[in-house]
Amino acid sequence: MDRGTLLIHNGHEIEPVTGALGVTIYQTSTFYRKVITEMQEFDYSRGGNPTRKALEEIIASLEGGARGFAFASGMSAISSALGLLSAGDHIIMAEDVYGGSRYIIETFYKRWGLEMSAVDASDPENIKKAVRPNTKALYLETPSNPLLKITDLKACLEIARERGFLSMVDNTFMTPYLQRPLELGADIVVHSATKFLGGHSDVISGLAVTRTAELGERLYQIQNSFGAVPGPWDAWLVMRGIKTLKVRMETQQAAAGKLAEWLLRHKQVTGVNYPGLPGHPGGDIHRAQAAGGGAMLSFKTKTTGQALSFYSRIKLAAAAPSLGGVETIASYPVKMSHINMPAPERERMGITDNLIRIAVGLESAEDLIADFDQALQPPS
Ligand SMILES: *Cc1c(COP(=O)(O)O)cnc(C)c1O
Repeated sequence: MDRGTLLIHNGHEIEPVTGALGVTIYQTSTFYRKVITEMQEFDYSRGGNPTRKALEEIIASLEGGARGFAFASGMSAISSALGLLSAGDHIIMAEDVYGGSRYIIETFYKRWGLEMSAVDASDPENIKKAVRPNTKALYLETPSNPLLKITDLKACLEIARERGFLSMVDNTFMTPYLQRPLELGADIVVHSATKFLGGHSDVISGLAVTRTAELGERLYQIQNSFGAVPGPWDAWLVMRGIKTLKVRMETQQAAAGKLAEWLLRHKQVTGVNYPGLPGHPGGDIHRAQAAGGGAMLSFKTKTTGQALSFYSRIKLAAAAPSLGGVETIASYPVKMSHINMPAPERERMGITDNLIRIAVGLESAEDLIADFDQALQPPS
């Protein structure tokens, strides 16, 4: 079924008991045991809750996987999925994934004996070169954050499949509406549902989907043991957001395309990263694996001073971390998402002090362009 239709018709459009349109919020921590000696589906809400289950089934159907899981945040979804690995295992990670995903490995999982190599995954050869005898997993994110670099998912996931290691893809920027990594060979997809899926900058949430039921059972054990689960109300907010994902993504993506084209011609701008621009490195690969350029872009101003003055002058973009809401957000990677990365490494990767990341919202492209124009005027 078309993903736009599936956002609305996914088995949860009518509540079977009352006929209510939509999912009920089961605000309960525990469930009455009908037969004291028998296990039942809903027992205690850390293990399972009907509202959360509806969200888990919806994301599984959207991503085309066997099982979905909802978490209290994107980071808890990612940390729980990484919990599938053991001490002594080696993971190959794209070097420019979400800052927090690398940070938790470098600060936490390393102490538990996980080894990690960070590589530039825009060339699959770098992944092959990083393979060690104990490599057990590959972790990717495309387009990357904040430079929108493209990874060839099919080619990279094939490397993992051939060698029998687990593959995980963070699909936050694209959402299953635009890109479905499981169809391209991934074992697990993770999301920060805080972003486009929730869509309204009003909830922190995370999701994971496994390709197979077997892997799903293993991840379920971790979800239930770690217990980093969302409450029913937060799960409901994400489901409410998902219903309008198509119109938001289409509109935000169209505006992002216009803004990127305009920025490209701006005299104070020295470079624009947007997967939908002609000439974006890896653009052909992106078009083959995703249905659009998305609503994320980044650009560089001539000087750091100009970038800083942009943040103080821009009116229609909130200077804030996060992305994927209805409002345009201008984040500052070196002081937000990538603040924990050592400065020399940031510099080497191109995450410089004059880099501005934009998550385009639902404002009109013309209004955004006018506002960006005044915010980018050189100081007089
Ligand atoms: C925000 C984000 C995360 C972390 O999610 P939280 O909901 O903030 O915990 C992970 N990956 C990407 C790509 C993100 O943008």
